Amino acid sequence: MAEVHIPMDRPDYLWPLFAGLETLDGVGPKTAKHYKALGVETPKDLILTLPVGGVDRTRSDSIRDVPLPGMATVSVVIGRHRPPVSRGRPYRIEVEDAKTSFQLVFFHGKSDYLSRILPTGARRVVSGKVELFDGVAQMPHPDHILSPDEAGDIPAFEPIYPLAAGLTQKGLRRAMTAALAEVPNLGEWIDLPLLDQRGWPVWHDAIAMAHAPKGPHDLAASALARERLAFDELFAHQLTLALARASNRKGKGRVTQGNGRLRQKVLESLPFKPTGAQMRAIDEIATDMATPARMNRLLQGDVGAGKTLVALMALLVAVEAGGQGVMMAPTTILAGQHYANLKPLAEAAGVVIEMLSGQDKGAERRAKLAALKRGDIQILVGTHAVFVEDVAFADLRLAIVDEQHRFGVRQRIKLGQKGQGADVLVMTATPIPRTLSLAQYGDMDVSVLDEKPPGRTPVATALVSTARMDEVIDHLRKAVAEGRQAYWVCPLVEESESFDATAAEERAKLLRAAFGEGVVGLVHGQLPPDQKTAAMADFASGKTRVLVATTVIEVGVDVPNASIMVIEQAEIFGLAQLHQLRGRVGRGAAASTCLLMYRPPLGETAKRRLMVLRDTEDGFVIAEEDLAIRGAGDVIGTAQSGLPQFRIADLETQTGLMALAQSAARTLLVRDPKLIGPQGQSARILLILLEQEKAIRLISAG
Ligand code: ADP
Ligand code: MG
Repeated sequence: MAEVHIPMDRPDYLWPLFAGLETLDGVGPKTAKHYKALGVETPKDLILTLPVGGVDRTRSDSIRDVPLPGMATVSVVIGRHRPPVSRGRPYRIEVEDAKTSFQLVFFHGKSDYLSRILPTGARRVVSGKVELFDGVAQMPHPDHILSPDEAGDIPAFEPIYPLAAGLTQKGLRRAMTAALAEVPNLGEWIDLPLLDQRGWPVWHDAIAMAHAPKGPHDLAASALARERLAFDELFAHQLTLALARASNRKGKGRVTQGNGRLRQKVLESLPFKPTGAQMRAIDEIATDMATPARMNRLLQGDVGAGKTLVALMALLVAVEAGGQGVMMAPTTILAGQHYANLKPLAEAAGVVIEMLSGQDKGAERRAKLAALKRGDIQILVGTHAVFVEDVAFADLRLAIVDEQHRFGVRQRIKLGQKGQGADVLVMTATPIPRTLSLAQYGDMDVSVLDEKPPGRTPVATALVSTARMDEVIDHLRKAVAEGRQAYWVCPLVEESESFDATAAEERAKLLRAAFGEGVVGLVHGQLPPDQKTAAMADFASGKTRVLVATTVIEVGVDVPNASIMVIEQAEIFGLAQLHQLRGRVGRGAAASTCLLMYRPPLGETAKRRLMVLRDTEDGFVIAEEDLAIRGAGDVIGTAQSGLPQFRIADLETQTGLMALAQSAARTLLVRDPKLIGPQGQSARILLILLEQEKAIRLISAG
């Protein structure tokens, strides 16, 4: 059968929308530059810039009929002109509407211009804000001055657009009118039943309606026209992710199926039973690995949900199938921690596991690499950096990336391309709200560990002012005497690591003075790797009882005996980060405490955030709150996350739309993988329109 090839070129009828802005009425090269600040470079960008507000310009007979001060749109007869009597005074024009007289007021008004547009005796429709000044009603600088036959040009509800320096509402509206005239009718890319069910207008009408709101309700994100346009954006994004997913899975994967023998051994050696969620995730992963498509799966689970066991089981599937697995972590500390956790279990199953880090040098490193290449090492643990270098495997079948939010979509796709057909499992310990998870990981399949292992004691969380530092230290002294261990976290105060290191060193000094030299350990980002490792090891073995740290301990570190977490200046941390930090305690049987120290006075928002943390330990609840308080861009740093910027869609309020867009995109690709049917071709137009370059490349590549 011949390949159907539909080029992804921009069709002729879209060209006007992609022309320079100067092609629009009233836009010159200089104004065009000003539009750039709005992210508007083409007429297409302009029509996707929706009104942010509106002005009521309902016609009245008289300003008497509207509450003052307020907007009025009235027909008037122009009376006497009163040029300023002295410099600095305004130019006044008496006017009379159906019931009363008032004044139009112009500062720096030019007499000949005003005489021309407002000749005495003429009738005009004026619209603007009317206020009382010294008992006299006046309308300073009307927004509109029109002759009676032009008066119909003012809509009863006039849209207000976002502006940038150098732009005016008037100029923008004029350009918008010109741009809207270029909007073609496009074929429908939304499933008709969905369109019907939601009551959405077709695209062309939606654009027109969004720019002609009839009242404030038409400006709401829930207005049907706006909702459809938001959906289009999300749909285009999800289609891109779905195409990436399809291309990633297609043909490049391998069937990796184990006999369960090693997994069985590990399960038998465990002192506990896997949770239902763990079993489900293990099953999903094993099933996925057994298909010829390449796995690209996300394992999402809160701190302590037990991701390590799931990861190990996946690695063992690879080993059972005669292959190898690799697990990568963002830092050496984390890689070391994973290694320490995995090693006893892997060895219980008789599997050879090794760690490769930047500290491995010379002959030792060469020996490890050779063993890896021969297949003598079955599971390798290391940092991302280690893997990205040229490490050769005999038969790599699974790459696990412990992402912890340090990777975005783009880097991840790149990494996936490196793995020569290996299945990819990404782990994240930061629960993120469903919309964001769909936006960020929409190209992946997802397993969620939404159940914690039993027997955890909740972490008692309290807010304490720094003014009570002495009490905190006293309390800690008693706890240490009882054999408990504590983390003491110093915040990232500045963007400079050395500065933060100094703060941590100062704190360690104070605590050593209080508890004794050997009791307090210190770890921060400025320390050489071997010192970090040593500090962590001393704390893990119980040699030190208090570990002063910067946020390097944020993720993954597991010392079950540590039951106290003190966080200084908790108010400047992100909620997700605080949740991660708190997750370092409450891992053993002992009752745990988390003290969130803050510097008073605490602002409203900061207080609300810390209270959320005090009141719940559910990472998903915390994440939703975080989203509500801070907004999407801040929850995951937008630039680094690869989270797209949407012009219309609002991730905070339109939560359901993203899931809908994902299922619509995946459904379309199942029905029409090459996007060659009528709906598929329309979807191509949407991708071109919304400049989904990646999708366009994927489709063009066939
Ligand atoms: P995560 O990586 O998701 O934060 P871990 O895999 O490090 O969590 O597990 C946290 C702790 O819980 C570990 O000490 C682990 O041995 C233990 N654990 C894991 N699964 C279970 C289970 N099903 N029942 C009891 N304890 C478990
Ligand atoms: Mg872990």
